Amino acid sequence: MPSEFDVIQRYFSRLTDTREDVEVGIGDDCALLRVSQNSRLAVSIDTLVEGIHFARDTDPLLLGHKSLAVGLSDLAAAGATPCWATLALTLPDIDEHWLEAFSRGFSLLARSTGVQLVGGDTTRGPLSITVQVHGQICDGSMMLRSGASAGDLVYVTGTLGDAALGLLVRRNIHAGDDVETLFAALDQPQPRLAESACIRELATSCIDISDGLSSDLGHILQASGVGATLFQDSLPLSRPVEDYVASTDDWSVVLGGGDDYELCFTLPAALQQDMDRLRDEMPACFSRIGKIDPEPGLRLVDHAGVSRTIGAKGYDHFG
Ligand code: ADP
Ligand code: MG
Repeated sequence: MPSEFDVIQRYFSRLTDTREDVEVGIGDDCALLRVSQNSRLAVSIDTLVEGIHFARDTDPLLLGHKSLAVGLSDLAAAGATPCWATLALTLPDIDEHWLEAFSRGFSLLARSTGVQLVGGDTTRGPLSITVQVHGQICDGSMMLRSGASAGDLVYVTGTLGDAALGLLVRRNIHAGDDVETLFAALDQPQPRLAESACIRELATSCIDISDGLSSDLGHILQASGVGATLFQDSLPLSRPVEDYVASTDDWSVVLGGGDDYELCFTLPAALQQDMDRLRDEMPACFSRIGKIDPEPGLRLVDHAGVSRTIGAKGYDHFG
């Protein structure tokens, strides 16, 4: 049976490419990192626990990807460029097949986003994965939740509800076609880093959608002391989600479904044309879905022009 140190050496010490700003990485008591001048350090941490965030039989390759992706999505929401990560892994036992696949999933995303794994901790216990990500933001270009003002436009990247519908399919609650797209959204979210870099100079506020649009946009509204109106017909849906909504009239996957990891952001109406020009540069599509109002609360206007109020949690209010 390999020791804790064998595991670190074998699976984690050379997992990612080396960055020149890492003076000391894995192997000493602390990592030593050089932070650029005129930048802020952006830090975010997330834990995935077996039985809570993922099922026991989850493919470890996908877990390796997702455990880093959710943190990178937070950095994208802040407008930060990812640099370094640390990994605290609690394992019930040393399963080399699991470690091999997990570290590969982690490594593929880390390498493609320029992130170096610079340290961590390896302990024994019920399976749990904690990843802390560190990024840098040039002074002045960070995006907070608190910057939205009345009159701003509300945008999202990508499409909404694919992961939530994927979960319904996986639990056999819904039988759909095109399940590959839905499972990819659920298991392998792509952090919107390139999109973040395109919008961070323009946006007045931003959040990543991890709990569902109504809940996460609700955080922007609360932090900014404003409200919003969304237009149902403008919400970007993939074909399977569009079919699902058309046949069930259940909007909860779109408004309250978690795990989208798309960006929701606001920007001044005067910048709408700049946004239209950006369309060609942004890898993912982006859609204008509504506007910020002075009066608090979140409203949804349907195709007939009827407006209804959506609760912060969205989900229950649509039955
Ligand atoms: P310490 O006892 O000083 O905390 P450890 O023995 O826990 O050190 O870890 C040895 C080195 O390996 C440290 O540099 C630590 O950051 C790194 N490390 C431990 N576990 C992991 C892991 N799962 N991923 C990446 N680095 C790790
Ligand atoms: Mg330790």
